[in-house]
Amino acid sequence: MQNSWEIETKTIQCGWEPKNGEPRVLPIYQSTTYKYDNVNEVAMLFDLEASGHMYSRISNPTCEALEAKIAALEGGVGALVTSSGQNASTIAIANICSSGDHFIAIGAIYGGTVSLFTNTLKKMGIEVSLVDASLSKEELKRYFKPNTKALFGETIANPKLDVLDFEKFGALAREMGVPFIVDNTFATPYLCRPLEHGANIVIHSATKYLDGHAISVGGVIVDGGNFDWSNGKFPEFTEPDKSYHGIVYTEKFGNMAYIIKARVQWIRDIGSYLTPMNAFLTNVGMETLHVRMDRHCENAYNLAQFLSAHPNVAWVNYPALSTHKDYNLMLKYLKGASGVLSFGVKGGRAEGEKVMNALKLAAIVVHVADVRTGVLHPASMTHRQLSEEEQRQAGVTPDLIRVSVGIEHIDDIIADFNHALNSI
Ligand SMILES: *Cc1c(COP(=O)(O)O)cnc(C)c1O
Repeated sequence: MQNSWEIETKTIQCGWEPKNGEPRVLPIYQSTTYKYDNVNEVAMLFDLEASGHMYSRISNPTCEALEAKIAALEGGVGALVTSSGQNASTIAIANICSSGDHFIAIGAIYGGTVSLFTNTLKKMGIEVSLVDASLSKEELKRYFKPNTKALFGETIANPKLDVLDFEKFGALAREMGVPFIVDNTFATPYLCRPLEHGANIVIHSATKYLDGHAISVGGVIVDGGNFDWSNGKFPEFTEPDKSYHGIVYTEKFGNMAYIIKARVQWIRDIGSYLTPMNAFLTNVGMETLHVRMDRHCENAYNLAQFLSAHPNVAWVNYPALSTHKDYNLMLKYLKGASGVLSFGVKGGRAEGEKVMNALKLAAIVVHVADVRTGVLHPASMTHRQLSEEEQRQAGVTPDLIRVSVGIEHIDDIIADFNHALNSI
């Protein structure tokens, strides 16, 4: 029954499934510890011979319900919630690549991810090549080496707002025998389900639209269960793991090998699981995901139209505008273009800062994707730590103002921007 439900029903009903007499609403299982009837039960858990909770560093019933909900929405075989989106990206890659390995990522992605890939993973001996997404499939193939283990992109790039060409990158990953990892943070499973378009692994910063209220930092990794880890490139999946008495992940867990390995190796050892309290908050937020996303899309479209017509605005970037370079990709893969747009003020950075300072309803925040409208200047905020070249690759120009359009009344949002733009 659940598989046939519409996504609006799944956001509300999937995950927590109370049995007779149990709480209707997902409880916060604020317990580090679980109780067993005998020693053998625990031994079975430690040997991965039985499934169940052992310790809340590795799994927890509240987190498990959230994982089940997100896996159902994305159409995956399983999910793992993490302490942040950054941690989800880290584990998504580290679960595949070891020291000496290489992977490929589209250059125009979230600044924090670029920094993680080019600095911190590099220290662990993992090399990344950042590529221009507009290259042809044949040109992109030249970046692949024998030790290339993954391909990474974002559905809607933050903050450049390029829309991912799933067909091209999905085919590239398939032909090169590597998993295609997609950060679906800006789209959410309501607007796009990457696993239906060739992705193998989906990640999210749950801090953004899944929570949607700016109250909880979290991340999630979803396993599509649709990648063949036994193609010869991934010995960690097909050779015995000595930290579990020599189990072989592909043999023991089949199409759930990736997500189980991520939990029982990485989360066990690194200890970056989501807390039950934050899982509860994210779950409450997600119950209105579909309603919020419709309004975010509608408001962002209307604000984009208004800004496009304003005499003090130099340019507007929003994929649902028919003039956007990725408009056709947006129509092909997305139900809506989400709630983030960017624009430049005539006169450049200095005039843009004046507009930001004159806004009253729209607050200056280092965040996107919550119910309140907010603005940000990436060059001096989120992308500050990147070099000029990396900023350029990420699509961050000095005059770019990013707006996260909230779900207030559109007339009030437009009035705020109108007043601020007219004040310069
Ligand atoms: C915010 C963000 C992240 C990082 O997530 P955190 O929860 O802040 O760690 C990763 N990817 C994208 C697209 C983001 O917007």
